[in-house]
Formats: sequence, C-alpha cells, structure tokens
Amino acid sequence: MEEHIKIRRTANSKLKDIDFSTIPLGRTFTDHMFVCEYKDGAWRNPRIEPLELIPTHPAAMALHYGQAIFEGMKATVGNNNIPLLFRPEENAKRFNHSAARMGMPAVSETLFVEAVKQIVSVEHNWIPPQEGSALYLRPFMYADEPFIGMRAATSYKFIVICSPAEPIFTKKIRLYAETEYIRAADGGTGEAKASGNYAAAILPTEKAKAKGYDQVLWLDANEHKYIQEVGTMNIFFKVDGRFITPSTNGSILKGITRDSVITLLKDKGFEVEERPITIDEMIDFSKEGKLEEAFGTGTAVAIAMVEAIGYIDEVITLPENNPVSQDIKNTLNEIKAQKREDKHGWIIPVDVKEEVG
Ligand SMILES: *Cc1c(COP(=O)(O)O)cnc(C)c1O
Repeated sequence: MEEHIKIRRTANSKLKDIDFSTIPLGRTFTDHMFVCEYKDGAWRNPRIEPLELIPTHPAAMALHYGQAIFEGMKATVGNNNIPLLFRPEENAKRFNHSAARMGMPAVSETLFVEAVKQIVSVEHNWIPPQEGSALYLRPFMYADEPFIGMRAATSYKFIVICSPAEPIFTKKIRLYAETEYIRAADGGTGEAKASGNYAAAILPTEKAKAKGYDQVLWLDANEHKYIQEVGTMNIFFKVDGRFITPSTNGSILKGITRDSVITLLKDKGFEVEERPITIDEMIDFSKEGKLEEAFGTGTAVAIAMVEAIGYIDEVITLPENNPVSQDIKNTLNEIKAQKREDKHGWIIPVDVKEEVG
C-alpha cells in the first residue's frame, strides 16, 4: 500500500493572473508541486505543497555526478471538462528504466501514476482549453545527498511540476544531420531520459541553429550514417506510400508518441517498417521522388512536420504537403480531447476532488 499523499494548498493562487492565450513556453508554473524523498531505502512523505525554492547542499551529488532523470507528459481536458492523462503508466515504466540505468532507485508505478493524477487533480484549472494545448507535466528525480565521491547516492528527491503549454512547433522544422557530434553510443545512456544526454546536445544544437536549422538529426556513433532521432523527438519518414522509423536499439529513446503513432498508422492501413535507416538512403529516396513526408514525434510537440534536412553539403527538401502526417496529428489530438474514440484505452480520466480547507 502506498502512503497517503498529503495536500497543502496555497492561499494565493497565481491562476487569476494567467492569460491562456499567450503562455510563454516552459516559463509559467502552476501553484503546487508533488514532492517525495528517498532515504534509508524507501520513498517517504509523498505530498503536494505550494511550489517553492528547494534548499540544496552545494555537494548535492546530482550537481557533480549527474544522477538526474526526467519524464514529460501532458494533461488535457476531455468531455465535461474532465482532466485526462495519456498512457501515464508508460511514463512510469520508462522513468524506472531511466532510473535503473543511472543507478537510481525505482518509484513504484502506483506512486508515480498517483502522484501525477493528484497534482493534475489539484491543478486542473490550469489545463488550457484549446485543442492541441495542454498542461505539461515534468516528473523528475535527482540525487540530493551531499557527498563528494563516485558512487550511487543514498538520498533522492522525486518531484512533479506542471507548466501550461500552448501547441509548440506549429511551424515546420529544419533538421541538421550531425556528422561530428553524437548523442548516444551502444552501451551508453541513449535509452534513458537522463539529464546529461540533453546537456551534451546543447552545443551541437546551438551550432545547428547558427547554420539556420532548428534541431539536430542525430546519426549513430560508429559510422555517422544511421539515423537515430531528433532532440526530443523520434523520427518518421513516408517513403513510396509506407512509413519507416529507426528501430530502437538501446541508443534511441523509446518515445510513447512513437509507439502510439505506429499503432495509429497501422490502424489506418499503412505499413510501418522499424529498421535501421541511413541518411544516404533518404537522400536517394528524395532524389527518386519517393520521400513523401517526414515528421518528428514527442509529447511536447505531438507531431512536428519536417521541412528540410541538411547533411554536409546537401539539403533534402520535403514536399510542401503532408496529408498523412497531418491526419495522424489531428487523430492524436482528438483522442487526447475525447473527440474521437479511444480504441486502445490510452486515455485515463483524473478524478477532481473538491477543495477542502
Ligand atoms: C522524450 C523524448 C522523446 C519522445 O518521447 P515521448 O514519450 O514521445 O514524449 C524522443 N526522443 C528523446 C531524446 C526524448 O527525450
């Protein structure tokens, strides 16, 4: 049995000051956070309290050795204003997969899902109403034990914060296929949502931006030839009527949107190949006129259409129209808004408890 999650509400909600028509991305946070501490081998004192600064010891191990992982998920509103989560147990499983790789303790799936449900219940008025927008949820865990020395920490914090989000990347994206830097190598941490992976991606992404691109398209570490994924998105190509996406191989983050999109494409009668794909193959397909659509998938963006891919001296330009990608994007958004049947049981409603005291 999980411990009861105690709730202490703020007396000064910031909600009245929020203009949902212009929400600066990732900068607005809700009134509360979920917090829980790991000490002496167990998670303790799970609670929801007003969001505030957390005192941190300068020797906190996450700051030095990087034991830090996160998740990203979204709450939307469905029929009758009921808050909805999308496949939260998949995020719970992946959180533990990341934790295991980084030598961090597991959080029971029940506690993870309950933490997310309860913070959404408390903050349900913060879920923006427009289709495609959502309350972004950021569960994360880090080592807060003050210690200098290389070993697994013995104390951690597991926190969930929430940030209302407009639909992002509504414009098409330009990707730069990176041949110098890598994101993930065999045996590395590519399959974990570990903070250090993103730290290592910042410089290459800034360089890609300076060249006029939005994001890096990562290639494999050994040969710089197999396509892996994009910043925080998996990648799909439509070639000659069928879809191709890189097979997960330990170096690619197993996106929940990726998995959902594969299912939706198959539902719509498309063939989906999961296999290794080289950048040269894509250049050839493009030259033969067979490369029809390309898009990235991830919780933050849902689906982002690709406009062009730069690679050394070449630029692959995608066709103007992406009818199937657009249809998949709409389908996913409609499922998340309960405007379309949820055939696969992906949508989990959240009970909203009455405020007391
Ligand atoms: C989070 C993430 C994704 C997308 O995963 P979703 O579960 O679809 O949000 C893809 N690639 C990387 C590197 C990521 O961090």
